[in-house]
Amino acid sequence: MKELIKVESHGVSGVGRAVYAAKDISKNETVIRSRQLKILPHRDKFSLELKGKHILIDQPGVLVNHSCQPNCYLVANQYNAYDFIALKEISAGEEITFDYETIESQVVGFNQCHCGSDLCRGAMNSQIPNLIEA
Ligand SMILES: [Zn+2]
Repeated sequence: MKELIKVESHGVSGVGRAVYAAKDISKNETVIRSRQLKILPHRDKFSLELKGKHILIDQPGVLVNHSCQPNCYLVANQYNAYDFIALKEISAGEEITFDYETIESQVVGFNQCHCGSDLCRGAMNSQIPNLIEA
């Protein structure tokens, strides 16, 4: 399964690393099968919410970035972690993404989204009223 993807520096932001398709991936194919490394005491920018707990998963899953128009979704697996499943056909070289808000009840680590998709919501946690904004 490993040959499906590759980890490289993030081509868009140049910051950090991201996960890319190493070859064409079919819809519904399991792109990444992650494993749980540990349960964290509270959420952080790397944690994923699973059954009310905040877990840290192994690489490369932990490196997958958010998109408001993702090409993967997450399904809980037998390793107390998540499988990343292709939502659609993914072309070689395309960045692997999922929508953080599909599993997180609250997103921390970033507030403004720069995923660049046509459907970008612009801000995370937008369902929570922003009491600070005038
Ligand atoms: Zn976005």
